Formats: sequence, structure tokens, C-alpha cells
Amino acid sequence: MAFSRRWAGSYFDTARFRAPEVPHISIETTNICNAACVFCANPVMERRKQPLGMEDFKHVVDDFARIGGTRLDFNATIGEPTLDPQLLERVRYVQRYPQINPIGFVSTLQWLHRHRLEDFFSAGISWISASCSLSGRESYAEFFGVDLYDQMLRNLIPLLETNAARGGPISIHVDVKPTNEPLEVVVRHPDFLRVAHLVNYDLEKQVRNRGFFVDDWQGAVELPDFLTLRPLYPRGYRPCRMLYKGLNVYSNGRVGACQCRDFEANSELILGRVENGLGPLWNGETLRNIRERWRRKNEIPEICRTCRYYMH
Ligand code: SF4
Ligand code: SF4
Repeated sequence: MAFSRRWAGSYFDTARFRAPEVPHISIETTNICNAACVFCANPVMERRKQPLGMEDFKHVVDDFARIGGTRLDFNATIGEPTLDPQLLERVRYVQRYPQINPIGFVSTLQWLHRHRLEDFFSAGISWISASCSLSGRESYAEFFGVDLYDQMLRNLIPLLETNAARGGPISIHVDVKPTNEPLEVVVRHPDFLRVAHLVNYDLEKQVRNRGFFVDDWQGAVELPDFLTLRPLYPRGYRPCRMLYKGLNVYSNGRVGACQCRDFEANSELILGRVENGLGPLWNGETLRNIRERWRRKNEIPEICRTCRYYMH
């Protein structure tokens, strides 16, 4: 009953369904990733694996700055940013627009050693979310699908140490993934303790509070038993908040209305290509119709019907 009342009240809250004039953008600088995480669609993705062309990248950043954009990240739908040889060149390119700040990305750091740490710090990266597990090689390989635990640690620890020595110019969040192990095994592992000592927040508390709820990418991924499907929340006449947040630029130059689940970049949420312009795509008829058809007629894009990351 309380839910129905809240739902009915918020349906008439027009601010909830108003998009900002300028979107946030995420740029998938590459969709290449060598890992095969248990909860990821990377192993089944058929989309061509490629970095975003540098000309397209510059075009997007220039276009974004021109329309007054300030919030940009390099988060990928699928992809490992440190596998992009031009990653730091891209970060430096964004620096020509000081209003675009902060800039960062999620990474496993498995391939950080391909970039000079000195350059990493001088490029202008403001935040990194490091996906990892810290309880040994075996559970890491089981979760990430690759035997790169030692390589990841050899990258993560110097990054944290150097960052601390420099006074923390990069905000580094260590995201310890939920592996199939008892919690006490995780928080007592020597590598966990070593890393916990290097971050400036309570890593153990974070791990104790983490969730095991994930999405299965429209059924494309068969989840292991220790992970649980997030509930499928009701969404009738209530478009997902993601459709009012920003745009996603895929590594093939396509632009979509949500970066979340469209791993093939071919759903109804694809609005056009970078050359169509971010402003026209964000304020254009296609996206407006997607939102309005959902809100007024309950016509929900197919990809959003079963998405467990729907944002109420
Ligand atoms: S979750 Fe990230 S690191 Fe893991 S396979 Fe997918 S893209 Fe790669
Ligand atoms: S329901 Fe899922 S796919 Fe659809 S807009 Fe929301 S997060 Fe994106």
C-alpha cells in the first residue's frame, strides 16, 4: 500500500521526469577486455572488439565541451580501459577543457603496467575504481576468469603506495568483488590486510557490507550459485532514471541512452552516432519518444523490461 501511494505520488512529480539540458557522458574508450568475470557478458559479446577511434574521441570531447558538458567518465559497458594504448593521451586531451572534471574509470588494473606510473599521475586522472579480489590466486581466477592475480597486485600496490606518497591526488576506490569464500577468509588474507592498510577508509567494513545481487544481462549470463539475481522491480509508466542522466558513447562510435546493459550496442536505446552530435541526440525526438512512450503508454524498451539495474 505504501509503495502504491509513493508510486502514485511520484508519477505526478514532473521534476523526476525532466532531463537536464546537458547530459553526463560515459565514453567506452575500448571494449577490449581479456577477463571473463562470472557476472559479465564479455565472453558472449559478439560486437567487434576495438578502441574508439581517436578522431571520434576528439570529436565527442570537443562536442561535449561545446554544449557545456562537465561530467564525463571512461566507464565501459564492456572493456578494460588500461588495455587502451591511447588511454593517457585521451585523458590529456580532456584536460584542454578544465570545466570537464573529474575524470576517471573502473579498471581491474591487470594491465596498468603497460603505462608508465609517472605518466598515469601526470595525465590528470582524478578517480579510479579498482575491481579486484584480495584473497589469493585461486579465487581471483575463479571470479575474473584469468590467472592474473599476481600481475594485478603488482600493479595495485605500487599505485596505492605512490598515490599515498604524493598526498592522494587520485581518489582510488578498491572494489573487492564477492567471491565464493567465507567472509572471514577474505578479511584475514594477508593481501587483503596489506591493501586495507594502504587505503584511507575502512576496507573491511566495506567488504562486510557489499552486496551479492547482480544482473544477468537479459539472461545472457549464467550466474554461479553464490551470486543472486537482483529483484525485478515494477516499472510500469515510470521510465528508468538512467534515461534522464546521460549518454553512452560505445567504442564503435554509436551513442546510446544508457550504458548499463546494451553489451552489443544494438538495442532500442541506441540513438545514433557521434557525428550526429551529443546535443541533438540528447534533446532529440528519439530519446524524447522513448521516455514519453514508457511514461504515457507503458511501452517499455525491450532491454529495459528485464533489466535488474532499473532505477526507480
Ligand atoms: S566485468 Fe569488466 S573486467 Fe570483468 S569481464 Fe567484464 S569488462 Fe572485463
Ligand atoms: S532499465 Fe536498465 S537498460 Fe533500461 S535504462 Fe534502466 S538501467 Fe538502462
